[in-house]
Amino acid sequence: MKTISILGATGSIGTQTLEVVRASAGELKVHSLAAYSNVDLLEKQVREFKPEIAILMDIGSAQELKKRINDLPVKVLTGMDGLVEAVVANNIDTVVTAVSGRIGLEPTLAALKAKKNIALANKETLVAAGELVMKTAKDNGCSIIPVDSEHSAVFQCLDDKKSLVKKIILTASGGPFLGWKRSKLSKVTKEMALKHPNWAMGAKITIDSATMMNKALEVIEAKFLFGMDYDEISVLIHPQSIVHSMVEYIDGSVIAQMGVPDMRLPIQYALSYPERWPICFEQLELAGKTLTFIQPDEEAFPSIRLAYKCGKKGGTLPAVMNASNEICVHAFLAGRIEYLEMYELIQQVCGEHEVLAADSLEKIIAADLWARERSEEIITVGLNKV
Ligand code: NDP
Ligand code: MG
Repeated sequence: MKTISILGATGSIGTQTLEVVRASAGELKVHSLAAYSNVDLLEKQVREFKPEIAILMDIGSAQELKKRINDLPVKVLTGMDGLVEAVVANNIDTVVTAVSGRIGLEPTLAALKAKKNIALANKETLVAAGELVMKTAKDNGCSIIPVDSEHSAVFQCLDDKKSLVKKIILTASGGPFLGWKRSKLSKVTKEMALKHPNWAMGAKITIDSATMMNKALEVIEAKFLFGMDYDEISVLIHPQSIVHSMVEYIDGSVIAQMGVPDMRLPIQYALSYPERWPICFEQLELAGKTLTFIQPDEEAFPSIRLAYKCGKKGGTLPAVMNASNEICVHAFLAGRIEYLEMYELIQQVCGEHEVLAADSLEKIIAADLWARERSEEIITVGLNKV
């Protein structure tokens, strides 16, 4: 039996992780559940899964939860200290990092230092601090197992001969605006961008999928997770989301992992690894299906190109790209900026950044905060005015 802690328990990945726990018939036990402010759902989850610790980052929400569950022997915590306490307890084996955004970095590092394995959904953490996170994992003998479907696919396709890999091919659905040109994209609204054709996910990653920034973040995520050069990572649009990614070996053999587009499969694999469990949420039926692959349109969707540029330059630049994107997505969702302005703004902020080595948490956080403030400033004053 594995004991797990779930950061982001009330979100899309968090709730699906709890479905896997339910289906695992005692293979998984929940030690702690953390979220931001969703008292109602966390209360329900606490009553069902009986963790030792429940955390709500928002202090008022944590106080409310404490009142509501005072009949249970559950410790209720709040804030970053609470999040960290939730992942370092002796009896935890694996921490599922399913919060959205760079906020997951500190608890991820704390978990690794406490020698916990990570089931990583929270890609922003690896984009912002890939070197530091991977080094901390190595120094502490911990594994980081991907939950992101593409990276889970690559992880499943890689055998132990990594030196024989020519490249990894990340697939992308293309999102709701596949085939659209820039002129048409200028009219995209929040409602349009929130409708993903294949996946039901949290709002932030859904917008990232619509802008292809999700794939951009995933290129950097793959670089760090698998220790590849950027030239060994490519992206291919595959609108059916059945092939979740591929690995090409030096002899031309390409190994692909397939499955229905259902995050419970990669979540389960991250938790069952190195085993596989006989739990199948939904069978893949290939008969009658057509699988297609096309090159991404980098003119209409420049995020992927930006990610390669920022990734190759390295240092604190990926953290800046990620932070600016987080601000832009929230501003777009709040109706403060237009769809296409997100690209322009992120590019401007990345261009202004003085890149430093990303060799300490302090430098990474400082770059992240600078990018957030600068992005906010540009949004407030108006693009092209500052
Ligand atoms: P959601 O928005 O659905 O959920 C986010 C979760 O994080 C919620 O539980 C939320 O709590 C919690 N949270 C948000 N901010 C904080 C904070 N400051 N402190 C503590 N908890 C916080 O996101 P998703 O589940 O869609 O995505 C989670 C991560 O997984 C992201 O990094 C995403 O890129 C990645 N991912 C997601 C996939 C998906 O299919 N959804 C696929 C692959 C990767 P509350 O509900 O209280 O606000
Ligand atoms: Mg993905």
